[in-house]
Amino acid sequence: MSSTSPDPDSEPTERITRPRRVGVFGAGQLGRMLALAGRPLGLDFLFVDPAEDPPAACVGEHLRLDYTSPAAVDRLATCDVVTYEFENVPVAALQALEGRTPLYPPVGALAVAQDRLHEKTCFSELGIPTPPFFDVTSRDDLAVALASREYPAVLKTRRFGYDGRGQAVLRSDADTERAYAELGHLPLLLEGFVRFERELSLIGARSASGEVRFYPLFENHHRDGILRLTLAPAPGISEDRQRAAEGYMQALFDRTGYVGVLTLELFQDGRLVANEMAPRVHNSGHLTIEGARTSQFEQHLRAILGLPLGSTELIGPTAMLNCIGHLPDPAAVLAVPDAHLHAYGKQARAGRKVGHVTVRAPDGVTLAERLTALKPMIESAP
Ligand code: AMP
Repeated sequence: MSSTSPDPDSEPTERITRPRRVGVFGAGQLGRMLALAGRPLGLDFLFVDPAEDPPAACVGEHLRLDYTSPAAVDRLATCDVVTYEFENVPVAALQALEGRTPLYPPVGALAVAQDRLHEKTCFSELGIPTPPFFDVTSRDDLAVALASREYPAVLKTRRFGYDGRGQAVLRSDADTERAYAELGHLPLLLEGFVRFERELSLIGARSASGEVRFYPLFENHHRDGILRLTLAPAPGISEDRQRAAEGYMQALFDRTGYVGVLTLELFQDGRLVANEMAPRVHNSGHLTIEGARTSQFEQHLRAILGLPLGSTELIGPTAMLNCIGHLPDPAAVLAVPDAHLHAYGKQARAGRKVGHVTVRAPDGVTLAERLTALKPMIESAP
């Protein structure tokens, strides 16, 4: 008897074997971890980055071109979907791709996140609390803004700030003069200084089909403007506080027609106050690789490909330590139970993120003990 079902061997090979290709602006460690999460899903990756031998070059094809080069845009346009792994990618490069292939997160969300004035204005319009902020385009503007408040305050460049760069805390007139001399050639924002109890981040995802998931709030510790430690879940978060943060992110999803992973950095000072948003996977979410049922990297790929989103539940208390300037001895790190090392393949340099360590534990007390063992390995010079 002959069968009527299609013979799988007669299916065009193209349909069976062609991997879906993800184009990525930037080939840093975030791109590398995206590809490491995407390979098991059958994806392959094309990275555009002008850097020589960036961290993601070994996990996909690397086009060493400027982001705005027509050749780069043409190659990216052949991908099934395009995304970006840093927020300073030129909007013009993304606009050149629009209509040629799906591009997520949407350019509008990136444009808001690239400019601290637009970002804080967007937060305010959506009812998301922010520190008081003032547009500063001249020394006079700064004097007027300072006249209406007391020190300390924070002066930031509107664009291109990261890891604490492009900003200064003002505690006196002398600080103001110094900071303005350094930053005043650029458009600036003056912010009220928030005496926060702690810093938190919310990472969430919205898929192309509209499904939404949020991770629990994480607690972040910075030194010199650089993230050093993340704890998940942030201890002592009430259901109401988690829901409030999720409501803020939902408003941002709705406003921007968002697709992908989004991060909202928050201060807790009795209430939640928004600092900034990052339209991408985030350093504070690295611990989701081992600490959550679905990593933020896989989640971002699921979201931009319109696949079902994964569970955001944590497997247990988890922490992440950034390795700044040098990598610890792998043998020492891996001797700590349930510790995992991620090296980014970057040249060690002072102040540079070259890797991170994630550690899980069955309970908070054991997690604290494991962190006490790991911290000296990560902080001491090699
Ligand atoms: P940002 O580049 O805006 O994320 O700022 C880097 C770090 O500077 C934050 O993680 C905070 O630790 C600190 N910071 C930024 N803005 C403020 C503010 N308005 N008040 C107090 N600390 C701030």
